[in-house]
Amino acid sequence: MKGKCKLCNDTFVGRAGKMFCTIKCKNIYHKDLIQKTNFAAIPTDKILHRNRSILFEIMDAGNFKQKKVERKLLDSKKFNWHHYTHVHKNVKGKLLQIIYDYSWMIFSDQEVLIKKVNKITR
Ligand SMILES: [Zn+2]
Repeated sequence: MKGKCKLCNDTFVGRAGKMFCTIKCKNIYHKDLIQKTNFAAIPTDKILHRNRSILFEIMDAGNFKQKKVERKLLDSKKFNWHHYTHVHKNVKGKLLQIIYDYSWMIFSDQEVLIKKVNKITR
């Protein structure tokens, strides 16, 4: 099979599906891909890490496994409600927002239940 290198455009002969002329071109291409992705993720990662720190601090550096606080406490610390890592639906069908290893749930009385998540569920 004849191919054209995805990075340097050199032609090469190799197995079907081969995309790079050399392992060097392959490594440069993937290193660049990772760097560009890391760079693009920085602003969102900062928000997520900040949110996680706020929850961790409220949970007394991990001493509390769960705690109910007023929403305005998180607002006062500039918690960003729009950024979380994933969601989980509990047995009652209510959605929990999760940031790494902490979940939160807002109740109608503007109280927030924060819980430590021990196992990541899907
Ligand atoms: Zn190449």
